[in-house]
Amino acid sequence: MATATKAKPAKAANTAPEIAFTLKTAALRNLFEMTREIADLWAIQGLLGWDQQTQMPPGANEVRSEQMATLEAIVHAKRSAPALGKAIAKAEAALEAHPERATVADRALVREARRMYDQATKLPEQFVRDFTVATATGYDIWHKAREANDFAAFAPILERIVELVRQRSRYLDPQASDPYAPLFDEYEPGMPLEIAEKALEQLRKATVPLLRRVRAAKQVEAGFMEGTFPHDDQIKLSRRFLEIIGYSFEHGRLDLTAHPFEQSIGSPDDVRVTTRVHEDDVVSCLMSVMHECGHAHYEQGIDPALKRTILGGGTSSGIHESQSRTWENIIGRSEAFWQAHYGEMQRAFPRNFSKVPVEDFVRAINRVGESLIRVEADELTYNLHIIIRFEIERDLIGGKIQVRDLPEIWKAKYRDYLGVTPPNDALGVMQDVHWSSGLFGYFPTYSLGNCYAAQFAAAMRKAHPDTDARLAKGETGFIREWQREHIHRWGTIFQADELCRRVTGESLNPKYLIAYLEEKFTRVYGLK
Ligand code: ZN
Repeated sequence: MATATKAKPAKAANTAPEIAFTLKTAALRNLFEMTREIADLWAIQGLLGWDQQTQMPPGANEVRSEQMATLEAIVHAKRSAPALGKAIAKAEAALEAHPERATVADRALVREARRMYDQATKLPEQFVRDFTVATATGYDIWHKAREANDFAAFAPILERIVELVRQRSRYLDPQASDPYAPLFDEYEPGMPLEIAEKALEQLRKATVPLLRRVRAAKQVEAGFMEGTFPHDDQIKLSRRFLEIIGYSFEHGRLDLTAHPFEQSIGSPDDVRVTTRVHEDDVVSCLMSVMHECGHAHYEQGIDPALKRTILGGGTSSGIHESQSRTWENIIGRSEAFWQAHYGEMQRAFPRNFSKVPVEDFVRAINRVGESLIRVEADELTYNLHIIIRFEIERDLIGGKIQVRDLPEIWKAKYRDYLGVTPPNDALGVMQDVHWSSGLFGYFPTYSLGNCYAAQFAAAMRKAHPDTDARLAKGETGFIREWQREHIHRWGTIFQADELCRRVTGESLNPKYLIAYLEEKFTRVYGLK
């Protein structure tokens, strides 16, 4: 496979000079070739995963899982190959000797190759096996314990998993001052945990009192949102909105799945989105499509020079989520956007909406509810769900709290922050699969995504002070263009914190999201 590939970096007419690879040394050219093969294999893995969740007949699941395991073993062997380690060391030496001969793309290629190789080689094989066994068992036990609402049955395996996750953290970075930091860094590379931690704390301190004021206010009328909205009509409307916000069907497609996701097949040329329909909810499908389209805009907007390379994807989970949240919430739930497009909704479902003014509709899609789980949460309470999980994860991995105390801690935080108490542990501490699978460190990136989204939107509005007026006229292309110029086209060249500083002039700062939420919910609920 490798032998036929020549190091021929893609060049496009509109590529900024920094984005192009120059590969002026043999060491860099060699590394480019080796990592290109891995990037292609990742894309093929993505395609197989997409197929499994959208098209594959259910009876093929077993054989597909085995095929995917075979492919994963090949990828792992390539990522951890001693030859790759040597190639990276040579490229690092070449960069150090002649920094002036490299572009930021060249340097990012070496940085990401190092990161990828270290991740693949730091965990001993025996540890990986133990982790796989514990989490497979953990998933099984969690599933049964949740059905039976029996946390005590889940606690021992969770203790074992937490111990293994701490071990994993030590392997990843034995010098880390906080054992949670290396886990977080896997999803938000280069973003110091302290900055994220401080941002989430400020966000919590602003959101809890705002939520209390919303709860005390007159509630939003939304009876007209009730009804049955046929599957095919919803899909038709979702396709229409994908077109409106500029999704390229020439380079993508929309399919059905159980849990919506976006999947890039290795380049901006093929970036797919998926959705699902609830016939009793008219906005759930539409908003999830806008969300996935935000992810897709990112991947479709990456510079062609980065295609089929390890820099050809979004730079972090949080930055990726910021793009989806921008289209789902900041634009997709704004009054300006709906002033232009509410007619589409009225024509699709006249019985519900023909007599409802756009202002009432926009208030209804922004109403704040009471929810026990983030997947059903509104824009305001969403972050509190995430923050609760983050605080518990960090204290659990750091050894400040014990597994046996989790149910009580969970309930207390839900009561204090969200004003709701889960009736049992199945709907509380055992609601999600993640911990049983050993997934720690990922959750905070959801709320960081909201913070970045608001911070980027503030920068975009500075460049386009007429944003709302243009949105109300039906324009959205100028927003995508701004995102492409400042965020999308760079792919993984800059890590999250550096990208944020380049785009907005400062590190992650939650004050933009806080101001956005205060402004929006003051208006929606007529707060004083
Ligand atoms: Zn997302």
